[in-house]
Amino acid sequence: MSLQCPLCKSSDQVITRNYGRKAGSAVGALAGAAAGYSAAASGARVGASVGSLLGPVGAGLGLVAGAVFGRVLVGSVIGSSAGGAIGAVVDDTVFDNYYCQHCEFEFGADQLLHDSSHP
Ligand SMILES: [Zn+2]
Repeated sequence: MSLQCPLCKSSDQVITRNYGRKAGSAVGALAGAAAGYSAAASGARVGASVGSLLGPVGAGLGLVAGAVFGRVLVGSVIGSSAGGAIGAVVDDTVFDNYYCQHCEFEFGADQLLHDSSHP
């Protein structure tokens, strides 16, 4: 899909800013990581009990692996994708997400002209 500027009709100079997506992903990842601390606690507990089958060293490794899995993988990934999805909605509804590099006109999705070769 080619984006077209509603002002100067340039079709190859329009870029998307995606402020919301970027901010949402970053904030979501942080929030997810923070929320993941509670998951990390239970993950560490499970990891330690599984690892304890292999002795003291295994318990230590299991504790670290469980904590990392609970915090980083679960919290951060879910938070980032959820934040990005929310940010995408914000981009499309709140911000003027499109910018024409030709005439420096900023505009929102409601002003976006789609390829007019298919009337
Ligand atoms: Zn333009």
